[in-house]
Amino acid sequence: MNSSDNKLTESELTSIKQVLESKRSHLRSFREMRLAQIKDGSDSLKDAADVAGHEGDLERMWFFLNRDQSTENKINDALKRIESGAFGLCRDCDSPISFKRLQIDPTSELCINCKNEIELEESGSKIYH
Ligand SMILES: [Zn+2]
Repeated sequence: MNSSDNKLTESELTSIKQVLESKRSHLRSFREMRLAQIKDGSDSLKDAADVAGHEGDLERMWFFLNRDQSTENKINDALKRIESGAFGLCRDCDSPISFKRLQIDPTSELCINCKNEIELEESGSKIYH
């Protein structure tokens, strides 16, 4: 399949790489912040009247940490794909992913068609015949 028309240019790749790297450094500083908050939280636990509420906060904090970690993994994968030259191609069907779409979500691994299919499946609204 000839996808040269849709292939990302060097400068498009560079700009996406910059976005990914800055996202990653944001995630890392958020993580530092959250870990510090978790630490502070456990220190002040003895003063907390509402321990259950506090545990809810901690749970939320861990939820965010896990979510950020998986985002960071995706970013790392995307950066690896940029290195290997596989970036911008759909994981499922090898179609080029549009630059517009990558600008919105540089960690996209799927073209819009495959993505839509997966989202339909995940939302449980099976409209297949
Ligand atoms: Zn696809």
